[in-house]
Amino acid sequence: MGEPLRRCTACGGWEYGGAPSCARCAALVDDIVEDAWREFLTRMLGTRPGVQGAGAGELDARGAGGHVPGAGSTGAAGDGRTAGDERAVAEMVAEEPDRHDWRVFDAALDRLTCDDCGDRLGRGLAGCPGCDLAHGFRYAAIETDRSGVPPGNEHAIRVNVSVVRRPHGISAPELLGRSLFLPFLLAGALPTTRQAQRMSALLKSGVTREEVAALVDAVSAEFSR
Ligand SMILES: [Zn+2]
Ligand SMILES: [Zn+2]
Repeated sequence: MGEPLRRCTACGGWEYGGAPSCARCAALVDDIVEDAWREFLTRMLGTRPGVQGAGAGELDARGAGGHVPGAGSTGAAGDGRTAGDERAVAEMVAEEPDRHDWRVFDAALDRLTCDDCGDRLGRGLAGCPGCDLAHGFRYAAIETDRSGVPPGNEHAIRVNVSVVRRPHGISAPELLGRSLFLPFLLAGALPTTRQAQRMSALLKSGVTREEVAALVDAVSAEFSR
């Protein structure tokens, strides 16, 4: 099942929906991929022989100790893992997108630097060859619907998260629509094609952010769950 809708204490909209302009919502969106990465890294490095103190139990304890959203998991964590270990795992994942969950793949790209533009791989301006190539690979990664959500929900989450985290070249109305829809998708809803088209038309009619948010709330109440 999806997560319940909650108001963001920073922007007042639904949590996640204020990204990328609301820093708190943007950090929550980053956590969608970061949480999956931490879990994956624990599986990869926690079971590797010879790594002292990287047992799953200890990592779990660290996670429960209060994670700062968007802080990432590189750095001296004192658990025997190094930034080099993490980078090696990221490079491996980046080379085999079709073997990994999209959340893990997106997080791996964030840990690599583009040789062409120097930005995080896949996050540079549209038109950078290295980033465009890596960005295209994202869609080879695996999407698994959470239990109890309509089929295709995970794909919709992925597209919206991808757009919100890499908004270059996306029109303002589309970015607004995708960010405002994200909380409902995470809650387990999915618009029909007709509802999505109706929203798209409403967004293009160019009203204020508050009016658009109210429309998204109204339309989302009709989504299948
Ligand atoms: Zn917010
Ligand atoms: Zn680049």
